[in-house]
Amino acid sequence: MSKKDFDVIVVGAGPAGMAAAYVLAKAGVDVIVIERGKFPGSKNVMGGIFYRKPMDDLIPEFYKEAPIERHIVEQRMWLMDDVSHFSMGIKTQKHNSEPYNCFSVLRAQFDKWFSKKVVEAGALLINETVVTEPIVENGKVVGVRTDRPQGDLYADCVIAADGVQSFLAKSLGLRKKITPNKVALGVKEIIGLSEEQVNDRFGIKDSKEGVTIEITGPFLKGMEGMAWMYTNKNSVSIGIGVIIDDLINHNMNPNDLLESLKNHPSVLPLIEGGETREYLAHVIPEGGYKSVPRMYADGFMVAGDAAMLVDSVHREGSNLAVESGKLAAKTYLEARESGDFSEKTLSRYQEKLEETYVLQDLRYYKNLPELLEEKRYLLTEYPQFLIDAMTEIYTVDGVPKPEKFRKIKGELKSRFGYIGLAKDLYTIWRKLR
Ligand SMILES: Cc1cc2nc3c(=O)[nH]c(=O)nc-3n(C[C@H](O)[C@H](O)[C@H](O)COP(=O)(O)OP(=O)(O)OC[C@H]3O[C@@H](n4cnc5c(N)ncnc54)[C@H](O)[C@@H]3O)c2cc1C
Repeated sequence: MSKKDFDVIVVGAGPAGMAAAYVLAKAGVDVIVIERGKFPGSKNVMGGIFYRKPMDDLIPEFYKEAPIERHIVEQRMWLMDDVSHFSMGIKTQKHNSEPYNCFSVLRAQFDKWFSKKVVEAGALLINETVVTEPIVENGKVVGVRTDRPQGDLYADCVIAADGVQSFLAKSLGLRKKITPNKVALGVKEIIGLSEEQVNDRFGIKDSKEGVTIEITGPFLKGMEGMAWMYTNKNSVSIGIGVIIDDLINHNMNPNDLLESLKNHPSVLPLIEGGETREYLAHVIPEGGYKSVPRMYADGFMVAGDAAMLVDSVHREGSNLAVESGKLAAKTYLEARESGDFSEKTLSRYQEKLEETYVLQDLRYYKNLPELLEEKRYLLTEYPQFLIDAMTEIYTVDGVPKPEKFRKIKGELKSRFGYIGLAKDLYTIWRKLR
């Protein structure tokens, strides 16, 4: 009979690992979570928006006790060049009442709280322990080796929720080496302000309400990326993530980009006078559906960022992590009935994910990374045209409006050509079909 210390070993105490452990512990499974950080959240970086739905399914009304900063009622999108921004967005009272849509959170606090719930549910959490390799016997994962003395642990199944670098998935050959055109480097600061300053500067009446601003456009100088500002209770999270290949090709340093973002005339008034409380950097998987690996092997499943589950178009990652962790746990519970943890049985995990929005959303955008790689100008030239057109329309200078519209039409034709425009629209439509 094979050795067994636990039913399941979960590697990584981020949202994916903790969701898996919570479901398993609640079902009476003997589960251990191994985390390399001092405590869950100590190593984790996120822009800061946490989505309610998958977490609420796990712990109903969690937001009433979890360390939430603000619930988000307004989401703005800015197209920005060096001197202007063109703003769109949605502010709705539908997101201003329970059960809410999403929240700004600080991961160091939120993950700590989540891990408490996981331990209360019955899981064992071990911090400051690094999993160094999977233990494989006869082609089946039977446990993990850790950096602790006598640190080998055995279980029916290992769930790798060890984040974007997933050493475990790589060493089992499930994941390929990450290429720098498929990951972004994100840097972020938390800038302390008073609650009143946050409210006044972002046009918020009630301190429980929050605003997000997503920023892209020509200020990125043709690099693929996104910047963001999220309101916390008495701070603002501001950050920028850019594809690593683009940083290399443009000889750009993410810290300099963040500094120039902070000093942009549209951004500076929102954070001016604040003190930097934290500075964080992390890699974001941006390869989309085509980079999602096989997420199972004999006695093994991969969840969250470790499986490259990030929807960068909609800034979703934490929710996909929670959903995948839950489904990995549910797949284990089904497999336990037959005592069969083979690759074939665990393949149901990926099938389940294909049935949900997690892989359906990623599949919808599957051609987007290549499209943007081929046609970087979509990220600069069209946004610049829009900013210029809006500036023209809103400039009152005695020029009659019909003349302004003629000028804008002429610009459209000279910058893109009608055939070029039609081709770009057709390509986008075809790639997103
Ligand atoms: C800059 C940035 C901004 C983002 N903004 C948002 C946002 O606003 N909203 C959103 O939904 N998503 C956002 N994301 C994505 C989101 O953070 C991730 O999708 C999510 O954290 C994935 O959760 P996870 O549990 O899979 O991995 P992680 O949160 O990375 O957790 C992995 C855990 O595993 C541990 N670990 C790793 N290796 C080992 C090992 N060998 N042994 C033991 N432990 C190990 C790590 O310490 C860590 O605690 C952002 C990401 C970044 C980098």
